[in-house]
Amino acid sequence: MSDKTRFGLDETRIPEAWYNVIPDLKNPPAPPKVVTPDGTELSQEQIGEVMAKLFPMECLKQEMSADRWIDIPGAVIDVYKTYRPSPLLRARQLERVLGLPSGVKIFFKYEGVSAAGSHKPNTAIPQAYYNKQEGITKISTETGAGQWGSALCIAGALFGIDVEVFMVKVSYEQKPYRRILMETYGGTVHASPTNLTDAGRHVLAMDPDSTGSLGIAISEAVEVALKDPGTHYSLGSVLNHVCLHQTIVGQEAIEQMALAEEEPDVVIGCVGGGSNFAGIAFPYYHRKLEGKSSARLLAVEPKACPTLTAGEYRYDLGDEAGMTPQMLMYTLGHDFVPAGIHAGGLRYHGDSPLLSQLVHEGEIEAIAVDQIACFDAAVMFARAEGILPAPESSHAILAAINEAKAAHAAGEDKVILFNLSGHGHFDLAAYQAYNAGELVDFDFAAGTTLSE
Ligand SMILES: *Cc1c(COP(=O)(O)O)cnc(C)c1O
Repeated sequence: MSDKTRFGLDETRIPEAWYNVIPDLKNPPAPPKVVTPDGTELSQEQIGEVMAKLFPMECLKQEMSADRWIDIPGAVIDVYKTYRPSPLLRARQLERVLGLPSGVKIFFKYEGVSAAGSHKPNTAIPQAYYNKQEGITKISTETGAGQWGSALCIAGALFGIDVEVFMVKVSYEQKPYRRILMETYGGTVHASPTNLTDAGRHVLAMDPDSTGSLGIAISEAVEVALKDPGTHYSLGSVLNHVCLHQTIVGQEAIEQMALAEEEPDVVIGCVGGGSNFAGIAFPYYHRKLEGKSSARLLAVEPKACPTLTAGEYRYDLGDEAGMTPQMLMYTLGHDFVPAGIHAGGLRYHGDSPLLSQLVHEGEIEAIAVDQIACFDAAVMFARAEGILPAPESSHAILAAINEAKAAHAAGEDKVILFNLSGHGHFDLAAYQAYNAGELVDFDFAAGTTLSE
């Protein structure tokens, strides 16, 4: 047991390879599926041809790779060095506020130290790098609250690649600061739906006042990439290669927990599309297979969008308009529109197919929690540890606190590790609403489907 609080590693300890969970799965992952409007199913070769117009070959190879370890390019490690290894801390002040006995310990990995303030640059950087390597001059993408868009704009600036962001109009108008950040890094940001794409014009023709949705923004960004050979599309969560890039988080955490001379009994992360959770948990899944860990892996999602706990495990589209292939995953239905919780990054109808499969096979547990309880936990954490968490990350904090309280009540020792996926400096409006007592809890039933 160490009496330290902060378990830092220097830049020479950045892992040299990402961990690919695919070869360690009990069953091979199900392939993506595309059914055309006339009902024909495309072959995997045909799907591959479309994907090659959207993503770099290197990312597509990673998407299906059978290699357990995939080398991180030196140029990517050089950029990782500007903020990695991220710190791992013991939440001693939070433990004190909770009155925990010495055998109950809370550790967290802090991803808010990146320039974007979240884990998202961990994948934006390699994605921009691989695109640059393959001669791509522009990347199009969508963003909701703006976390992904800002991560990609920073990565684009670093590697000299243009970034065009379709930002859901309601966020574009209500959350100007993320937009300003993206523009400052050199990105071009549009309020989606736009008049620049067929998909956008189609929506505006039917509803000129449309406030947009992530599904529409995806359709616009994909269309831009499909129409221009010099442009690729990029996604910040869900896909296998995105989860792969995030595994740097868990690998560092394993080394840092060794410095703390502790093994976690439970590893916790919030889940929107599943990438930061995969980042911290997949390396521990591997460690369990090696017989070195018996940690429970716990995914936490909002009750307003309870994909893993109340969704169905089946093939579904990744977006509302049907521009993406279908994937086997937990889903609430691609036309499900969750209630407007402040954790915008957790409002996705589906989840990473790899994470979904591991939940389905019983390797990973999932729970859903309420918005107000999350903010209670976030504010308790902020007052104890000083870091203002992103509303998304507060889901992991609440679960960590509940695990600690349960162990205390049962008189058990427990080492808890959670991923603090980002800071909340751009989410002050959410804290303002919380401070004013204006937040509400939503049931899953409060969400609506577009077809209704
Ligand atoms: C985007 C985001 C999430 C949700 O995305 P995942 O892919 O599930 O990790 C969680 N936390 C923060 C801070 C985010 O920016």
